[in-house]
Amino acid sequence: MGVSDHKCLACNAMLKFDPKSQKWICEYCGTEYTLKDFENDEGNKINTKTSKASKVNGYMQYHCPDCGAEIVMDENTAATECVYCGNTAIITERFEGEFEPKRVITFKKTKEEAIEAFCDYKKGKIFMPKDFLNKDNIEKVTGVYIPFFLYDMIVDGKLDVEAMNEKRWTQGDYRYVKKDFFKVLREGTMTFEKIPTDASKKFSDDIMDSIEPFNYDELTKFNSSYMSGFLAEKYDLNSNDLISRAEGRAKQTTRDVLYSDIGGYNSKKIVSYIGNANIQGTPEYVMLPVWMMNVKYEDKIYTMAMNGQTGKFIGNVPVSKAKVAGMWLGLTILLTTIIIFVSLIV
Ligand SMILES: [Zn+2]
Ligand SMILES: [Zn+2]
Repeated sequence: MGVSDHKCLACNAMLKFDPKSQKWICEYCGTEYTLKDFENDEGNKINTKTSKASKVNGYMQYHCPDCGAEIVMDENTAATECVYCGNTAIITERFEGEFEPKRVITFKKTKEEAIEAFCDYKKGKIFMPKDFLNKDNIEKVTGVYIPFFLYDMIVDGKLDVEAMNEKRWTQGDYRYVKKDFFKVLREGTMTFEKIPTDASKKFSDDIMDSIEPFNYDELTKFNSSYMSGFLAEKYDLNSNDLISRAEGRAKQTTRDVLYSDIGGYNSKKIVSYIGNANIQGTPEYVMLPVWMMNVKYEDKIYTMAMNGQTGKFIGNVPVSKAKVAGMWLGLTILLTTIIIFVSLIV
């Protein structure tokens, strides 16, 4: 199994992709490289290839070409980092054949911007335990390329709704209620382009859905060199496994659009909905950038994520019981004061 990393031609230090300049920059001497340098790298001077990975007890193991440390990865890891020296190892076979992504959106947001977003997020959370987002946890922020399939789809939707208008009035000793019922039908066709579905079991669907949308105009031809400085996974759910999820999202959107088009009634409820989805062409396999932070707190893992292209941030955090109790105490005292005050006036 081939493991490759990228080395500076001037000083042999490691190269990492820089989201700001969209170039590869040597961390040691500052020499910059562009994609052309990697493409013309016939003698593999920048792309250093090592083939030391071997399978031990179901896990892949290799020796870091820089420091010699032993690195273990699971069967889906496509790019990883040596925990001892920080060198990126790109497992080239996991980006080949059926696993070759067609395109990639490269990281546009830097690690510093991700850390800033995590710190800003922390500010507004008054119930978050103080030690939850400490310096050690924030530094665990990692850039990950996550495998996605993008589906193009046409959905024909047919919605049957019962709507009602109500009128009330009084005449003499009688109160009248008049209810008019309507059967409303809506049919429509919606075209969807690039419905994203994350193709790795490792990442929560909810979180991946929440950091959308990505701007697909910035998709560019895949090159494994973009992975340097980041982690990456290959898919473990293929495009067939994910069809029903992608179809489900498209059908639901179609239903919601048809439903919201029905107006002018006091109430409405769905009687039935039929959505037929037709996939257009072959789903495209792409890599999308996400900054992630997993924090273990009192035996639970909390995940925070930021869209590596747009900066959209989402997270869930633990709630400190002590802080909530303090708040209630504060409220109780305030209420008591007001009650006493009011009774004194009376
Ligand atoms: Zn250098
Ligand atoms: Zn190393």
